Amino acid sequence: MPLIDYHMHSICSSDGNNTMLEMALAAHRNGINIICFTDHVDIDNCQNGEPNPECFCNREKMKEMYKEALSGAPAEMNIRLGIELGEGNHDPERAIEIASSPEYDFILGSVHNLKGTPDFYDLKYYDKSVCLELIGRYMEELLELASVDCFDVMAHIGYPIRYTRRAGFKDIEISLNTYGDEIRQILKTLIENGKGIEVNCSGFRNPLVGGTIPTVDVLRLYREMGGEIITAGSDSHKSKHAGAGIREGFDILRNLGYKYITVFEKRKPEFLKI
Ligand SMILES: [Zn+2]
Ligand SMILES: [Zn+2]
Repeated sequence: MPLIDYHMHSICSSDGNNTMLEMALAAHRNGINIICFTDHVDIDNCQNGEPNPECFCNREKMKEMYKEALSGAPAEMNIRLGIELGEGNHDPERAIEIASSPEYDFILGSVHNLKGTPDFYDLKYYDKSVCLELIGRYMEELLELASVDCFDVMAHIGYPIRYTRRAGFKDIEISLNTYGDEIRQILKTLIENGKGIEVNCSGFRNPLVGGTIPTVDVLRLYREMGGEIITAGSDSHKSKHAGAGIREGFDILRNLGYKYITVFEKRKPEFLKI
């Protein structure tokens, strides 16, 4: 059975810590044989939410580092190049142009910050009503992004939970219980547009999350709605996390009745048995 990590960051991301080769070797040591790099290309500056004209400045560096990873990693590994394209709904024209770059096998679509607002990572959460207001806007923006043809798979549906929980609001969740209507609408739009979702496994190493992003009930609903395109990723930013949580993520998918996981080559999905 293949073990696949389709969400990894290298030093081509400002919050990365290792080269692509180092990440690939670490993934291999962890038993992962199929990987895709998804370094950040965020349409906005994460610190202030303003448009970032420089967001694609690492394009050449990514190509070079990818070549180095391909030649240095064990031959049996299957290594692909992608990006995590953030905030495509803030400037769809630019996002679609970036996504049309021919070198990418796969594009994750994310919302890390709301329009004109810093990354959820950097926000201050003064009280619960602030959190809920921000999450409400986040759901609206995900629905907008779902209709922009600039990605293959929507990343980490429920991202703000990492930070509202860190701020002490531990009972807030983004699941069918709390945002069922919004989530159904987002999944429906993704399926209609031929896009998928990811099982983001970073929550397994975060005790405040303690599981997948999105939650298991969302993964179940996606399958029931006929969703087939689904990838799994560690969202690792350090080599020690390369491949982390992937086995747990696969177990959850199998328990939900998923038979296949998706990989991409030049933006075309392929379905591998799990
Ligand atoms: Zn992300
Ligand atoms: Zn990421």
